[in-house]
Amino acid sequence: MPRPVIHWFRRDLRLTDNTALHHAAQSAPQIIPVYILSDWQQHHGWTGPNRQQFLCGCLESLAKNLTTLGSRLILRSGSAEVELERLLRETDAEALYFNRDYDPFGRAMEARVQALCTRLGIACHAYQDSVLHEPGEVLTGSAQPYRVFTPYSKNWLNLPKPAPQGRTATLGPAAAEKIKSLPLPTLAHWQLPACTADIPTPGERAARDRLKRFIDTGILHGYAQQRNLPAGQTTSLLSQDLRFGLLSIREIYQRCRASTTAAQTSIDTYIKELAWREFYFAILWHYPHVFQQEFAPDWQGLPWPGTESEFQRWATGTTGFPIVDAGMRQLLATGLMHNRLRMITAMFLTKDLHCDWRLGESHFMRHLVDGENASNNGGWQWSAGTGADAAPYFRIQNPWLQSVRFDPEGVYIKQWVPELKSVPAELLHKPPAPGLPLTKGYPLPMVDHHEERDRCLAIFAKHKAERR
Ligand SMILES: Cc1cc2nc3c(=O)[nH]c(=O)nc-3n(C[C@H](O)[C@H](O)[C@H](O)COP(=O)(O)OP(=O)(O)OC[C@H]3O[C@@H](n4cnc5c(N)ncnc54)[C@H](O)[C@@H]3O)c2cc1C
Repeated sequence: MPRPVIHWFRRDLRLTDNTALHHAAQSAPQIIPVYILSDWQQHHGWTGPNRQQFLCGCLESLAKNLTTLGSRLILRSGSAEVELERLLRETDAEALYFNRDYDPFGRAMEARVQALCTRLGIACHAYQDSVLHEPGEVLTGSAQPYRVFTPYSKNWLNLPKPAPQGRTATLGPAAAEKIKSLPLPTLAHWQLPACTADIPTPGERAARDRLKRFIDTGILHGYAQQRNLPAGQTTSLLSQDLRFGLLSIREIYQRCRASTTAAQTSIDTYIKELAWREFYFAILWHYPHVFQQEFAPDWQGLPWPGTESEFQRWATGTTGFPIVDAGMRQLLATGLMHNRLRMITAMFLTKDLHCDWRLGESHFMRHLVDGENASNNGGWQWSAGTGADAAPYFRIQNPWLQSVRFDPEGVYIKQWVPELKSVPAELLHKPPAPGLPLTKGYPLPMVDHHEERDRCLAIFAKHKAERR
């Protein structure tokens, strides 16, 4: 009697164009799909209810989609290697299939799972799936990793792209009833409080609808011109779908390239953004120290004298800088934030309040539905001026000028800071007269940008001089 194989779902919660699942389905008459829930409880410095709620919804949708194929998602909780060993024994599976994950935690877990399979004498098949090009594939002429985006992206863009493979249609019979599965998780599994944010609809179907809307309703067409404007939908809003693998990167790439209605410059600009995602995966892969330390050795040990109360005003969107507060409140309300705002708020925390970028990094990770270790770390180090290809430390964005440039009518600000609704737009982009708040109850700007800019330059310059 042929033995089943196991497909271990990780950050690939879909049936369409799922590389490992596709190969598993071709290799055996029965596939046992499994997802292993993490078993931390209550407090996790790097995650919170928003992303976990989205995950719960994605698992529910995946389980339903598997049921329509006559299969059954097996849910377990705990350490992957322990649970997979149990399941491999219980099912007498002959092989394990999964898609690779590129962050240090995913990599370490894969190494343990590979070792487990070797010990059990079971074939272990790991595939490239969540990226168009793996970190080791895009290297300089001397086979070194890139440290700068532009040459990386040129190389990345020139490489032939893998094609999508369609939807897996048969997985064979469901696992026998004696193979136990946990019920679908809720936030109670992690003892987390309720998710109060208005997060995107989870699941493969919703993600496919978002992709269609992005390509078919003119958003992709206008992307090159509009993408920096935070009011309305100007970007794809697909980051959480890439984070959880609800869509395949190959399909996104192929469908954007094939669009006959979108402007070519917009398609090219969009695809370059996808390269940023893989650039940061590669940075984290080759330089895992960035999780703890500044990427650039010059800036390691830089002091960050900002205080806890300053950090709290930033985190709660009460800095008195309307554009900064709008971004921080969008994050709290939706678990997402427009990229331009991520840059503005991150620079404000690090350059105007002098708070450690690691505090902002973990705050974002706790709230973001699309929280992605590599992109978030890359974005924070870029904004702090300490990262790979970062904004040079002396190029400090002025939040007032960013505000008038990217939200001139104040539409975005007024959406997220409703108490400013009746304030004329031109007043939202400059400090109010001393002692005169923009409106009753709205705080005065907590700092003077020009003074803090000088202070920041002095801190960086002193550190640089001391390291010489
Ligand atoms: C401080 C900071 C923190 C960030 N944290 C995250 C994070 O945790 N997760 C995350 O996915 N992105 C992060 N980004 C990148 C970017 O802000 C989001 O990917 C983007 O806002 C998601 O919206 P979208 O899907 O509409 O993007 P689009 O503009 O439609 O871009 C398409 C896709 O390209 C990728 N992408 C775009 N810009 C970047 C970028 N600068 N770096 C890496 N990938 C990019 C994303 O996968 C995105 O979905 C961060 C940026 C900054 C400055």
